[in-house]
Amino acid sequence: MFANGPAYLAIPGPSVMPDRVLRAMHRAAPNIYTGELHDLTHGLFPDLKAVAKTEHNATIYIANGHGVWEAALSNVVGEGDTVLVLITGRFGEGWGEMAAGLGATIETINFGDSAAVDPAQVEAALRADTEGRIKAVLTVFVDTSTGVRTDVKAVRAAIDAAGHDALLMCDCIASLGCDRFYMDDWGVDITVAASQKGLMTPPGIGFVWYNDKADRVRGGMTRVSNYWDWRPRTDATHYFKFFNGTAPTHHLYGLREALDMIAEEGLDAVWARHENIAQAIWEAIDVWGSDGPMQINVPDPEQRSRAVTSVRLEEGQGNQLRAWCEQKMGVTLGLGLGRDPASAYFRFGHMGHLSGHMVMGVLGTVDAGLKALNIPHGSGALEAASAVLARAAGADIDVAKV
Ligand SMILES: *Cc1c(COP(=O)(O)O)cnc(C)c1O
Repeated sequence: MFANGPAYLAIPGPSVMPDRVLRAMHRAAPNIYTGELHDLTHGLFPDLKAVAKTEHNATIYIANGHGVWEAALSNVVGEGDTVLVLITGRFGEGWGEMAAGLGATIETINFGDSAAVDPAQVEAALRADTEGRIKAVLTVFVDTSTGVRTDVKAVRAAIDAAGHDALLMCDCIASLGCDRFYMDDWGVDITVAASQKGLMTPPGIGFVWYNDKADRVRGGMTRVSNYWDWRPRTDATHYFKFFNGTAPTHHLYGLREALDMIAEEGLDAVWARHENIAQAIWEAIDVWGSDGPMQINVPDPEQRSRAVTSVRLEEGQGNQLRAWCEQKMGVTLGLGLGRDPASAYFRFGHMGHLSGHMVMGVLGTVDAGLKALNIPHGSGALEAASAVLARAAGADIDVAKV
């Protein structure tokens, strides 16, 4: 009924793609040998380093997030190596499984589905590794299945406190350009991300950032698969080596535009926008949950992502609400990925190209869905959310400009 008109994909990736990004991609194939595309590509690397807050190396792969998981691992982890995998949801498990697929021995610490990594347990595990077998610690900054956000700086501090030499590898696929992240300051050696979440570009390219320590470990590998090897991709002497073949031409144009949009708004302002939007969503959920079953999956706000929020209802209700919002209102919410029972959960994706009126629209849609489906809920959620946005936006307007 109300699903006619523009639809809204409010899932945690692919996120909403700005018209500017789509328009930049809508073009004939460019000359791949020389000229504009080469200049554009060279210009992407400094901006990719800026969004990850690193001075070190950035590489672009034709791959989704799973692809750059493997790309990063392939450069530093081989048959017989050991990695420590910190699990706060389905994506941590998945990255660990990928390391196992490359022949590594996996040690895992599982922190459950609703809490961040506990650095003390990481320190203890590394202290127990007296032979120094653990080559890398794998951590997911924001696990998209649970909405848990880990204090990555504290994980580095735990590695240092144990006096351990392991690399710190961080999955920022859901969080780059959403949650505040400082690769170099936090002591992350390898970061991975993909195009289709905070970076607002269609799925299909991914990124690996690595520092000199990581590259020294790469240098000690007996064998690195040719396609995933990051060294030629960082070496600008031959354009085709950046991509080990044909460049992802149209994605590069889209990414250029997306990075320009982030630079125009300012990364700090982008982070602050995500912070405030997340706060508005959480306050709405708290009101709904004050008189009904709805609850945010992660109790501690410090441990919550600013890009995705996982929400629990009663069995079946998550699926009902998702179906109602899509079929009646044209809003698609994320499903309860890897949760049990999955049908009790849904997720708000609130990453990337997202303005205040979109947030209020999604919250209003869910509010209507709860009413239509007779799911018990407290009233006043939209009031609470709009108060957050009003407070954050302030009243410093330019009336002359209207
Ligand atoms: C989306 C996501 C992935 C997987 O990315 P794909 O592009 O779907 O392969 C991995 N980790 C996190 C944290 C993600 O959010």
